[in-house]
Amino acid sequence: MPNRRTFLKTSAAAIPLTAALNVHDASALSAQELAVAAAGGPAPQLVALPPRQPAVDPAKEPWQQKIRRVGQSNMTEHDPAVMNIEQWADYWHSANADIVFISVTGILAFYPSKVKFHRHGKFLNGRDFFGECVAAARKRNLRVVARMSPDLNWGDALEAHPEWAMRNQDGSAQFSGEEPRLFKTCMFSTYMDDYVPAIIREINALYDVDCFYTNGWPPIGSLPECNCGICSKLPAAGTPAYWRVFNDRVFELWRKYDAIAREKKPDSFFFANLGGNVRCGPNLERLGKVAAWFQADNQDRTYEDPAVWGCTLQGRVCNAVLDGKFAANVTGAYSTGGLTWRNSAKNPAEAQMWLNETLASGMVLYYHFVGSENGFGEDRRWQKVGSDYFRWAARHDAHLTTRRSIANIGVVIGQSTQLLYPGPATVRSRAYMHETTHGIYDVLLRGRFAFDFVHEDRLDPERLSKYRALLLPNVAMLSDHQCQQIRDYVQSGGSIMASFETGLYDGNLNPRADFGLADLLGIHKAGDVVGTVGNAYYGRIERQHPILEGFGDTNWIPGAQNRIPLKPVQNPVLTVVPGFVRYPPELAYPTVPHSDEPAVVLRETGYARIAYFPGDIERSYWLTGHGDLLRLMDNTIRWITHDERIVHVEGEGFIEMLCWETTPGYAVHLLNYTNPNAHHGWMQSVHPLGPQVVRMKLPDGVKVKSIELLRGEQKVAFVLENRGLQFTIPRVRDYEVAAISID
Ligand SMILES: [Zn+2]
Repeated sequence: MPNRRTFLKTSAAAIPLTAALNVHDASALSAQELAVAAAGGPAPQLVALPPRQPAVDPAKEPWQQKIRRVGQSNMTEHDPAVMNIEQWADYWHSANADIVFISVTGILAFYPSKVKFHRHGKFLNGRDFFGECVAAARKRNLRVVARMSPDLNWGDALEAHPEWAMRNQDGSAQFSGEEPRLFKTCMFSTYMDDYVPAIIREINALYDVDCFYTNGWPPIGSLPECNCGICSKLPAAGTPAYWRVFNDRVFELWRKYDAIAREKKPDSFFFANLGGNVRCGPNLERLGKVAAWFQADNQDRTYEDPAVWGCTLQGRVCNAVLDGKFAANVTGAYSTGGLTWRNSAKNPAEAQMWLNETLASGMVLYYHFVGSENGFGEDRRWQKVGSDYFRWAARHDAHLTTRRSIANIGVVIGQSTQLLYPGPATVRSRAYMHETTHGIYDVLLRGRFAFDFVHEDRLDPERLSKYRALLLPNVAMLSDHQCQQIRDYVQSGGSIMASFETGLYDGNLNPRADFGLADLLGIHKAGDVVGTVGNAYYGRIERQHPILEGFGDTNWIPGAQNRIPLKPVQNPVLTVVPGFVRYPPELAYPTVPHSDEPAVVLRETGYARIAYFPGDIERSYWLTGHGDLLRLMDNTIRWITHDERIVHVEGEGFIEMLCWETTPGYAVHLLNYTNPNAHHGWMQSVHPLGPQVVRMKLPDGVKVKSIELLRGEQKVAFVLENRGLQFTIPRVRDYEVAAISID
């Protein structure tokens, strides 16, 4: 990896920092020596942080903005017979939770509901279990979310209201895959217009709750496929036109439920289950405007999506659209995943990493377990893990509450591409864009770049002005308007790195004859996508360039799995050596050893720098882990950004770094992913890292009072000279937060 050789600048001699950062050697260095450690060689240029935002009057903020910890013991039908309500409430109270979820549901009533088809649980026996839980929570000053589930109902409802069901193509009702007695309700049907509002109104009439939530709706990660009487008249599932009517319906219902929730208390509200990170179902830009609470039901990593940063990925998505509004990410304390044990604890190190990622990416802690058999659980191991973590966080709320991200690179999410683009003609795969996203994410982490996600519907100049560069990793769908916004961004001096089919489709997934950004990128399409059969293509080095730094002893480097053939450009840096046979090895040589087809196109206009790769380079990196692709993208990002950094963290290890402006000052979060389970299985243990040297340039007039490591709960020395702040975090276990208090 392009971890450059770094040097300790001392008056006596230059000691290789890589050696000095060895954990054993580091103890020989004083904190002061470590604090003055600076990157040598082609050190990145620090640019100053922007002026600080004006203070916010907490009294004027809505109540949910002050929530820092959310607790949920997800209630089962059996819980009214077995759950110890006092123990449950004591646990969340003693853990410093601010609010708890209590089940009303809609699949099974946890109170004596009179709403038709709201079936009472078979262990309820006329008891007001919901009401007793609300009272126990209220007694301890815990706020209450009334949790509903509108996605499934029973046969008697189906018989009376066949129009409520989602339908298969043959007209049969769709049922739950696990419990065939439950049918799936259609979100376009009157079930959502009549049944759900009736429950919200009944709860508001009987109880004092703070807000309402629906689980199971809207769908996350994918769009519904239904052939009921209403849906069969809608545009075809999975198309941009369907996504529009889907969004309109989601937000129509959202506003309706929200208005009903507020009928009793104006500061109440409705919110729904969300998540799916870059592949969220509803339009994220619209959600950002509507959602008072972004519920990220992003409880774990899975076998299909095993990257350790699944939670921070979600946090970055929330940060892209919420403008500081409330987001909570659910951590499943139970054994999540493809093979699940819903009533048993998962590895503590894994649960803790998910909680770490929640805080590091600016979201609010939310800890979740299912069922309370035998009082308050047959398996109670998750409880201490959660309460210890919550209590630690409660000591540091001021520093852990984020105000805005500090970053100078924006990565365009391409939500419509993530949801609707099927992949190139050579690889039709639902996972295609997921792999692309993970590829660029990995590159940015390894280069320790400070980056944000940017939604494609939020490309206005005011939002983009903070970024030195925008990355467009195969953002296939871009409207004419979005293309123009990107042109304007470059016109104002911003840089671009784009790849593969970026802009080859318009906002309605209609293919364009040539790239939507052809003029800006200086490229023209010369043919359809070329995939790989056997041996993938290479990029032949035509001339030296900063993006090729570190490639010695070779005339070519790997290209990617798929590429768009381009017309020749003047003075190319890399040209395509087309792919050939992998087997038999007798035939594994290039039949065309040299071509004039560009493998990268680079441009400079004013201060703006533009790089375009015709291959799906990010995804190819994710599939292979090839260090050449990593180096090429790392070099390119450094070149287009003029190697400017807004915060720079130097040290060993594979970390994720997130930086925030906070009310007391700033917070630099480091997540230690240097772990054999970073991308497979759960964390079993912690592998601590040695010193990390942090450098940043503060805004004019900002003075530092102190720097405290929140996990280590110790203060560290720092040097502040000419606005340049430097300090060393001596050790990072799984997570550390350097909290900078300013005057
Ligand atoms: Zn339907």
